[in-house]
Amino acid sequence: MDVALARSWVTAIATAVTEQADYLTQLDSAIGDADHGVNLNRGFTAVVAALDTADPRTVGDVFVKTGTTLVSKVGGAAGPLYGTAFRAIGKALPAEGSTVDAAELGAALRAGLAAVQKLGAAVPGDKTIVDAYGPAVAAFEKAADDGLPAAARAAAEAAAEGMRATTGLHARKGRASYLGPRSVGHQDPGATSTWLIFQALADVT
Ligand code: ADP
Ligand code: MG
Repeated sequence: MDVALARSWVTAIATAVTEQADYLTQLDSAIGDADHGVNLNRGFTAVVAALDTADPRTVGDVFVKTGTTLVSKVGGAAGPLYGTAFRAIGKALPAEGSTVDAAELGAALRAGLAAVQKLGAAVPGDKTIVDAYGPAVAAFEKAADDGLPAAARAAAEAAAEGMRATTGLHARKGRASYLGPRSVGHQDPGATSTWLIFQALADVT
């Protein structure tokens, strides 16, 4: 991955989030407060604008800028969580050099997951972002030797599976946890946006 591809990924996330904003908000209206699509759309629109005027030298710089912008522009739970993830991904990548390989990106994605779990304290099965992100990183790492496109495809498939499995889960973190057992039967909005993020990576690689 080079700087141009990193930019393309982030732009593809922004496009997907805009296209799916109503769907994400609809999912959040069932078990949250109906703002997930609005939040992420505002955030990634700001990220694209910020990257347009930035001159990132490394792939890591692209993701640090992405994360910093999300943290500053998005309220709610998911903005700071995704912002922290992208910042951690960027910081885990080499500070020099114009490209990163699939193994380096896999390790950075793993650091992003750790940052999400450190901030949000969610574990697998809590019906959150972690339930799509965790399987996606594991699949990415497992397929990294086959190259970035294969790893990204595997990650997107695993994220989709994790996302679908959140429907049967009882929420233990975030607003949906206020519903207790009534959260069962609804797909988690954050796990759904995590799938969009990994699907966007598969689409551009
Ligand atoms: P808010 O819940 O503040 O309105 P959003 O609607 O933007 O924020 O995001 C909701 C999503 O955030 C949930 O669907 C869930 O996936 C995710 N989420 C909430 N709390 C956590 C947490 N502690 N760890 C990981 N993800 C979380
Ligand atoms: Mg919400």
